Amino acid sequence: MDDCIFCKIIDGIIPSKKAYEDDQLLAFHDIAAQAPVHVLIIPKKHMESVLELSPEDDALLGHMFRVAQQLAQELNIKDDGFRLVFNTGNDGGQTVMHLHMHLMGGRAMGWPPG
Ligand code: 5GP
Ligand code: ZN
Repeated sequence: MDDCIFCKIIDGIIPSKKAYEDDQLLAFHDIAAQAPVHVLIIPKKHMESVLELSPEDDALLGHMFRVAQQLAQELNIKDDGFRLVFNTGNDGGQTVMHLHMHLMGGRAMGWPPG
């Protein structure tokens, strides 16, 4: 999508600090990290949010979680714990309308979230 920030990151038009990449997914460090480790895991296929997921995306979604698992290990937050978040829509606090999973760790998270 032409006016999507994350599609531009996928295309290399906007630079990012990559943490993982394959033919389906890209993971990169959040530009405004809210925790010592804050990575965004995104599908290369543009979709706005979890609301657009269909059964054919089940494998993709599972793959996103497996990559989160791998990055948690590589970024040394596996043992202490971490948080995975899909902000969705206005009340969910979604600001970029390209599906993304936040992987956050390196500090204790509060609950409930703000
Ligand atoms: P949301 O608020 O939609 O759940 O999360 C979007 C995230 O994307 C935010 O945490 C924001 O800091 C991050 N972000 C927005 N623009 C950029 C960018 O150009 N580069 C990187 N690395 N992260 C971005
Ligand atoms: Zn996009």
